[in-house]
Amino acid sequence: TQRYQSQQTVTYYDSAITRQLQKEHELSDLFRNSIQNHDFQVYLQPKVCPYSGRIMGAEALVRWQHPKRGMIYPSEFIPLFERNGNICCLDNYMFEEVCALIARWIKNKQPVIPISVNLSRQHFKNPDLLPHLSEIARKYLVPDGVIELELTESVFFDDRRIEIVKGNIKTMHQLGFLCSLDDFGTGYSSLGLLKEFDIDTIKLDRKFAQDITNPKSQHILACIMELTKNLNIKTVAEGIETQEQLDCLKGLHCDLIQGYLYSKPLPIPEFEQWAESRLF
Ligand code: C2E
Ligand code: MG
Ligand code: MG
Ligand code: MG
Repeated sequence: TQRYQSQQTVTYYDSAITRQLQKEHELSDLFRNSIQNHDFQVYLQPKVCPYSGRIMGAEALVRWQHPKRGMIYPSEFIPLFERNGNICCLDNYMFEEVCALIARWIKNKQPVIPISVNLSRQHFKNPDLLPHLSEIARKYLVPDGVIELELTESVFFDDRRIEIVKGNIKTMHQLGFLCSLDDFGTGYSSLGLLKEFDIDTIKLDRKFAQDITNPKSQHILACIMELTKNLNIKTVAEGIETQEQLDCLKGLHCDLIQGYLYSKPLPIPEFEQWAESRLF
């Protein structure tokens, strides 16, 4: 029976893997068409100053609204697209949609809310990335300082050629983009990165918020806040869901808050409505 059981387990995993592979194959097949049909949509999640309650920015997050399959969330396709290379095309698409939105705000004389765009690690390695983004931004006449590029820590660990990453960040700034370090605190030497690289903003990972009643976490956060203030780096806390978390972060002088407590990521029209009464 021992052997029989283990064979069953193998069969079970085997079919789970097969199903997963089938699903990935299917999503890969749908990608091209979905880009052409604009089935990928920009959702915007507000970043709010917790002291004034004003909106100070937003993060662009992709949503895949497939006509047959319904809404597909990033966790289902981003890891896949990072492996099969589609992520570069998707990131460029999101970036261009954001530029088009900013151009529309300017044309309509609406206030321009700074927006951050996520870039995948795979994409950041591509030497054509920054020239390409700058070309798109120029096409839409996006002013300097309006778009921030969010990079995860893995960008910095992965690439041993520190000088290349440093050069990329310098180029980013020359092209008028700000640089944000996403999911801060999840890697091994997050603090070291602040010294080495010219980063404008850190986004404190959601796990800090989840752990915020722990006195040790609070001490660590207090240190991070002190350090970033001295280095002139802005702090954004991600994943804030409760008043308690908000109060703690305000006590720690965190600059901006992003999380369900204020708003979930919203489709653009709903975001504009949400922002209207909370403009700076
Ligand atoms: P991220 O960049 O760290 O984005 C924050 C994630 O946390 C988003 O998940 C957001 O919806 C979620 N979130 C925000 N506030 C809360 C909260 O209060 N509670 C909880 N539980 N979650 C909250 P989402 O939209 O599912 O995106 C997941 C990840 O997928 C993102 O993490 C980012 O790494 C990636 N991603 C999303 N859009 C893009 C994109 O256009 N390009 C690339 N390369 N990656 C993207
Ligand atoms: Mg992000
Ligand atoms: Mg994040
Ligand atoms: Mg993340």
